[in-house]
Amino acid sequence: MNDTVSPIAANLAQVQARIAAAASAAGRAPEEITLVAVSKTKPAAAVRAALAAGQRVFGENRVQEAAEKFPALRAEYPDLRLHLIGGLQTNKARDAVRLADVIETLDRPRLADALAAAMEKEARRPDLLIEVNTGAEPQKSGIPRDQADAFIDACRARFGAQLVGLMCVPPVGEDPRPHFTWLAACARRHGLGVLSMGMSADFEVAIACGATWVRVGTAIFGARG
Ligand SMILES: *Cc1c(COP(=O)(O)O)cnc(C)c1O
Repeated sequence: MNDTVSPIAANLAQVQARIAAAASAAGRAPEEITLVAVSKTKPAAAVRAALAAGQRVFGENRVQEAAEKFPALRAEYPDLRLHLIGGLQTNKARDAVRLADVIETLDRPRLADALAAAMEKEARRPDLLIEVNTGAEPQKSGIPRDQADAFIDACRARFGAQLVGLMCVPPVGEDPRPHFTWLAACARRHGLGVLSMGMSADFEVAIACGATWVRVGTAIFGARG
């Protein structure tokens, strides 16, 4: 290590300060909000720089990429927490269960079946979030709004306390606020404590709307190529 603060460490400090400011502006405690550092497409060296700066919670979109980067890092940092935040194919369920501490993108009955079977085989039970496609975008993963209540109830019955919350990715270029408030109301209705919402462009808005996890990539690691 040298004396120069890495840009990643400086960016992390800045994002943490912005989270704290957004929390207090909303009358919330900064400790209520967990920063998930999204390291997709970035090399392990970038994750290492964040780890050296004290960051422990990371998000990856693709199972394959997570499998290439994270097992070695986890061996060095046993308290690292890996979240999978990308749309998940059922044929990747077993690898996902093996790798992740949290799967944020449970969004359909067939995936619930695949994850349940994988958890049985792997004897490993990552926490689960249900992703809602709040903007009804056909290319995006997530359960439609009008099916969310029934799916949440079914997953609750099946997974119990392993189901911890809800996640959404609002449409690009739209005001995210109505999406965030809808998700917050849905979580409240179901007594779910975790709300994963907000990215580099809108995490302060998400915190104002009740986010407990914010998923931030670009503001920490820089633009993706
Ligand atoms: C890439 C990604 C993020 C982070 O996005 P940034 O704009 O780089 O902060 C958050 N959530 C999901 C689901 C993503 O795919």
